[in-house]
This record gives sequence, C-alpha cells and structure tokens, in this order.
Amino acid sequence: MNGDQADRVGQDGGALPRVALPAGYNYVGVFLTFDCTLRCGYCLNRFGRLTRKGRTLNANEWAKGLSRLVTRPDLPVTLQGGEPTMHPDFHAIVSGIRPVLPVDLLTNLELDVGRFMNEIPPGRMKREAPYASIRVSYHPETMTVEPLAEKVLTLLSGGYSVGIWGVLHPGSAEAVLRAQAYCLERGIDFRTKEFLGMHEDTLHGHYAFPGACEGHFRKRVRCRTTELLIGPGGDVFRCHADLYEGREPVGHILDASFRIDDRFRSCDHFGHCNPCDVKTKTDRFQRDGHTSVTIESGE
Ligand code: SF4
Ligand code: SF4
Repeated sequence: MNGDQADRVGQDGGALPRVALPAGYNYVGVFLTFDCTLRCGYCLNRFGRLTRKGRTLNANEWAKGLSRLVTRPDLPVTLQGGEPTMHPDFHAIVSGIRPVLPVDLLTNLELDVGRFMNEIPPGRMKREAPYASIRVSYHPETMTVEPLAEKVLTLLSGGYSVGIWGVLHPGSAEAVLRAQAYCLERGIDFRTKEFLGMHEDTLHGHYAFPGACEGHFRKRVRCRTTELLIGPGGDVFRCHADLYEGREPVGHILDASFRIDDRFRSCDHFGHCNPCDVKTKTDRFQRDGHTSVTIESGE
C-alpha cells in the first residue's frame, strides 16, 4: 500500500480521504438516531425544533464515514442519540468502525443485554478514562432503578466498563439520589450531573456566556467549537443548537472533500445557543471550566 492509499479509507470501492481531529478537539459525538424508547420531559433533544427530515445513514455508510476519522486514544467516537441502540444497524455499525478507533456509548440501556454481549466484545468499548466507557443515563420519570442495576451488574460481570449518570433535575433530584445510593451499595459507579435547561421559567445550569440560551435576543458573534458533531444523516454541525434546530450543516461525513475547519465562524444565533454548547463542564480529563465553544463578539 502506498502513502496515498494509506491515507484513504473506504468500502464498496468508495475510498474517502482520512480526516484528522484537530489537537484542540475534545469530543466526537455521533447521533446515530434521535429516536428513543423513552420520553423524558426534560430531554435536551427537544430543547430546539429538532428536525427529523432526511434519511438516516445505514451501517455501511456509518462505517465508511466514521472510519475515515483519525482520533487519539483518549478521544473516542461517542455513539449517542436519542437512543443510539435503536438504530436498526447498531451492532453492524459498531463492528464496521475501523478497529483502531476507540468507541464509547451513551445509552439508556433499554436494550437486549444478552445480544449486546454476544455481538460487542467488552474491549470494543473500553478506553483509558477516569469514567466508564458505557455511560448509562438514569431518568426516574421513565425508568426503574432495580432492573437497570441488574443489567449494569450483568455487563460489569462480563468485563464491560459501565457506569450510570443521573440528572439532578429540580423535580426528580431526590429520586436520583435514592437511586444513586441503591447502586453504590451494589458496587455500581453512579454519578450525578447538573440539570441544564428551563424549569419553572428559570434557566438551570452554569454557563460561560451570559444570555446565550435564554432566547431573549439574537446577536451576531464569532464562535469556535472543540467538538465534531455528526447528525443521523451524516451532516456535520458546528454546535448542538444547529443540530437540534436543523440549521445549515458545515459539511457531510461522506463528502470526499470534507475537512474540519478549526476556526472562528460568524454566527447570527447567539442568544439561542443550546446549553450543551455553552455550559461550563469538565473536559475528557475531568478538568473543570471547559466549554465546548469559545464565543467572541463581532462579525
Ligand atoms: S432517555 Fe435520553 S434521549 Fe431518551 S427521552 Fe430520555 S433524555 Fe431523551
Ligand atoms: S454562538 Fe451559539 S448558536 Fe452560534 S455557533 Fe456558537 S454555540 Fe452555536
């Protein structure tokens, strides 16, 4: 294989040039589907006017598009949604991704654990990180902790890296903390997350840029991201707000000319940002104070 061939990846005769993640990138979010088995009242997927138009990539397309990425051992391709395991080709997608690429998963674990364990070996979703590679969301409004804990214990006994996260929503924080105590007693890693979004006319969460999410105005700014976000149809978006609002994508993962443009871009939608993009949070090394985007005023 010559150098040019080594820099290209593809199946079905359709080679695509590799796409290297910039050194400053912190996250690769692959939204396989926005479908979900549950309907949580505070679901961030419904923060905007999520568009469901367009088709969803199939297993071959996802494998081809994701396999062209060049990441780092500490920067996995994170499969998420919606509930990513609801993609009809979920198992084929996981097995089709270039094996050297680290993969992890955000799931509500409403899945057939036996089939998952039969088709995905524990090592495929395990990486060096101070938290679990399979991160299960617990939502007391729509889930029961006892069967969830049983599933997690089954996966743990099979050698998978699994932990549970619960959102401290003002209406269900006590239930989350009770579930946390139940799981910790059984040796399950259960962590909590700050609630992001509106509740009783109050915006909850800690944000780096005042006024970004309230929707009170729309202002032109310059914005630069540290995340590669890919929607169910393969479109690449500059932020969660663009993804959920169905704004114009900045590229497509199956476009041979696609490159990651690591620069500030002009945006007219500041004031209608999504909490995921502007909250202060920990980065992949669990360091505090990180935001997904940097925003500057001006054109
Ligand atoms: S499990 Fe997650 S994606 Fe599904 S409805 Fe609940 S919050 Fe939304
Ligand atoms: S300013 Fe807000 S809406 Fe615009 S690109 Fe940045 S995060 Fe997205």
